[in-house]
Amino acid sequence: MEGTLTRFNSIGIQVRDMKIIDGWVVGYVADELIPPSPRAAHIEPRAAFRALIQRRELATAVPPFYLPMASDNGFFRKTRSEILADFTALTRGDDDMAIYFLRRFGLWCEDDVYQKDASGQNRLPTSLLPWWLRAEREGKTPFATQLDYFWLCYDVAKLLNDLRHALLRSDVPTLKKLCLALGNLFFSEKGRSLYKEAPDPEKEAHFLLAMGTGRFLGSARVAPIEENGQIFPVISTAFSREAVFAELMQVIVAGTPLRYCLRKQCNNIFAPAPGKKYCSEICQIRNKRARQLGKTAEETNRSETSLRGGNANAKRSNRKN
Ligand SMILES: [Zn+2]
Repeated sequence: MEGTLTRFNSIGIQVRDMKIIDGWVVGYVADELIPPSPRAAHIEPRAAFRALIQRRELATAVPPFYLPMASDNGFFRKTRSEILADFTALTRGDDDMAIYFLRRFGLWCEDDVYQKDASGQNRLPTSLLPWWLRAEREGKTPFATQLDYFWLCYDVAKLLNDLRHALLRSDVPTLKKLCLALGNLFFSEKGRSLYKEAPDPEKEAHFLLAMGTGRFLGSARVAPIEENGQIFPVISTAFSREAVFAELMQVIVAGTPLRYCLRKQCNNIFAPAPGKKYCSEICQIRNKRARQLGKTAEETNRSETSLRGGNANAKRSNRKN
């Protein structure tokens, strides 16, 4: 079985009209844009989509069924691999950037379209309920993403990425620090950490990489999907959270965790090939020139290029819309 499940295909579910209420991004799923299925002409696509939500079957049904229909501009959009770099380049706590991300890559996770959680309890704060119920009465499909949770996932993605990098360097002090931070996030109860430091930081790092990445790949599905006449086993996801962690799994497996560009003035995040330290040849040339003109390494280079240490609070210079 080695190496068989190496294909990923992620789709995003388009959302619109977002705003923030009490720490939640709320908006509507743009389900009026679902294209009719050429294979099932008798199905009314919007009603079918809502039935999936009512039966809590969105994650089960959407990735394998709609993947072959996904386009780059429709309701189900193919997600590009830059999603991980774009996600980790957000500024933590900048909620407008969270909205920008959701507009670009789609619904965050399955729970966001359900009013109740899996145990039947109300998932939303009471202050949100009137907005939610009005949206339903108006025939819209509401969603609500909790911002605290969104930024928690952001922290986890960066920690896991940097953990892989520390493993590649056998950097034991950093491994210990990152394992502790991840352990405290995953194993705590009522704000109290239950995590105990492990004696072997490398083994512990492998365990946390598997557990942490797997947890947020929660609703990923596997299906045999045809590409150019051949059928492959494909991991498919329907939410931007899963797409982020599917990409993260790829860079973890490939041993190419994301880094900041070595050039101090550049805030690009990229997946470097071995030995590559700059996001582009342009940055490499610029730094080389600056050094020829007498600038020191401290003036031109970042001292630390990991996602957490590199430039966590920098505004992204090449923000796209
Ligand atoms: Zn650069």
